[in-house]
Amino acid sequence: HSKAKGKNQYCLFDHSIQLQITQKANIERSIKEALRNQQFELHYQPIFDCAEGRITGVEALLRCQAPALSGVPIQTVIETAEQTGLIVPLDKWVLEAACRFAGKLNAGRDRGIRVTINVSANDIAQQGFVNHVEDCLARNRLKPDWLGLELTESVLINSFEGSRSKLEALKEIGVRMYLDDFGTGYSSLNYLKLLPIDYVKIDKSFVASMLQSEKDGLFMKTLVQLSHTIDLKVVAEGVETARQANMLLRFQCDMLQGYHIGMPRNGEDMLRDLALDLGLSQRPLVEQ
Ligand code: C2E
Ligand code: MG
Ligand code: MG
Ligand code: MG
Repeated sequence: HSKAKGKNQYCLFDHSIQLQITQKANIERSIKEALRNQQFELHYQPIFDCAEGRITGVEALLRCQAPALSGVPIQTVIETAEQTGLIVPLDKWVLEAACRFAGKLNAGRDRGIRVTINVSANDIAQQGFVNHVEDCLARNRLKPDWLGLELTESVLINSFEGSRSKLEALKEIGVRMYLDDFGTGYSSLNYLKLLPIDYVKIDKSFVASMLQSEKDGLFMKTLVQLSHTIDLKVVAEGVETARQANMLLRFQCDMLQGYHIGMPRNGEDMLRDLALDLGLSQRPLVEQ
């Protein structure tokens, strides 16, 4: 009996690998097609600045309208794109679209709103990455600090020296650097000090556990304090409730992002919301 079961499991395993390969090839083909047919779009999620009491930034998040990719999580699309090199043309499109949006968003505004984009290791490794970003800023007449780049630890660690000088060059002209998803990778505290970054985004898993135990709360509080001692600002990701927002405000967290602040929305809707200031920055953060 157990032998038969073992054999079955083996077959199942084999089958699932085959399935994965087929799916990956399908996704790859669909990404190429969607790029050609301009079926990608960006949604934007607001980031609330606690000291200023308003939305000072939005994060651009990739979405795909192509039917062939509609059931595929964007994370999977991005992983496949990273494995196949398609992430480079994809993120080039993202940079272009995000800069165009930042131009519209900031037209006639005295206090700027920053657009941040997610950047993969492959992107930075490309020759001319710095020039390409500068060119995009210039063509869209953007102040460099209207653009932010979100990088994960693995991006920064994998090609440490090479990427570092490029990021420093961009930081030099005023583009802001964010360490994304802090707490999910190596999360070496030493890296916080060494990397050319301005902001650290604390992963939503920490925000989620923060209210569950005193220890986790203390951990978050200490992480914010530690970041401040090395001149980093802190963005909390995945803020879903007023209680979480409340606690993060008490901990002197600089910025909040998450469903409680606002959902990712398409560009048109986000422009309208921010133009009317439709309660987005007035949204009660603290439950009464
Ligand atoms: P990320 O950069 O950490 O983006 C935040 C993710 O958390 C987004 O998922 C967002 O929709 C989700 N989120 C925001 N607020 C909340 C909340 O309150 N609760 C929960 N549970 N989730 C929240 P999304 O859009 O599925 O993106 C997943 C990841 O894909 C991103 O994680 C980023 O690493 C990557 N990504 C997205 N767009 C791009 C892109 O244009 N280029 C590249 N290279 N990567 C991208
Ligand atoms: Mg991000
Ligand atoms: Mg993140
Ligand atoms: Mg993430």
